[in-house]
Amino acid sequence: MTQRFSSLVVYPGSFDPITLGHLDIIRRAHSLFREVIVAVADSFNKDPLLPIDERIELIETVTEGLEGVRVERLKGLLVDFARKHGAKAIIRGLRAVSDFEYEFKMAWMNRRMAPDIETIFLIPSEKYAYISSSLVKEIVYLGGDVSTMVPEIVARRLEVLRGKLGEKGPSLEHD
Ligand code: ADP
Repeated sequence: MTQRFSSLVVYPGSFDPITLGHLDIIRRAHSLFREVIVAVADSFNKDPLLPIDERIELIETVTEGLEGVRVERLKGLLVDFARKHGAKAIIRGLRAVSDFEYEFKMAWMNRRMAPDIETIFLIPSEKYAYISSSLVKEIVYLGGDVSTMVPEIVARRLEVLRGKLGEKGPSLEHD
């Protein structure tokens, strides 16, 4: 096994639901750092499809076997959460130029509040670079196949929830 940095890092997000893009970032973080906490947020201004407990459960299932990766609910400010757990850095995924502006703003705001915590950006494999949770939900709603975009267990769960997506309508918020 290759040597990993001894640090603990936090990977925050809404993960509604976890996609293969998220999982790719978790694996990359896991290959670099001793401990990775996947911190699942309540989604401040989004109306989530999956309740937080279910999002956590799905992430736990698909990260089983990745030693040093654990999943927790993120309450309050991310920097407070990171400090409380002794994290050295926050991990974020960058897909495209469109992610840049939001991610930079957030990284700078977090640095202002916690100059001791770095933000580290990881980029996914190009085959996952276009995947977003919101597009996955739209595709499911429209009757498409998302089996190449999310872990199998997530795809099955989304199938069951297709009806609920219908109630919400096709115009879902973008992440
Ligand atoms: P948020 O709730 O902050 O929008 P998400 O749950 O959508 O977060 O995503 C969490 C993090 O994972 C963000 O940094 C986001 O840019 C990143 N991410 C989302 N989808 C992908 C993907 N397909 N490849 C790489 N990173 C991704």
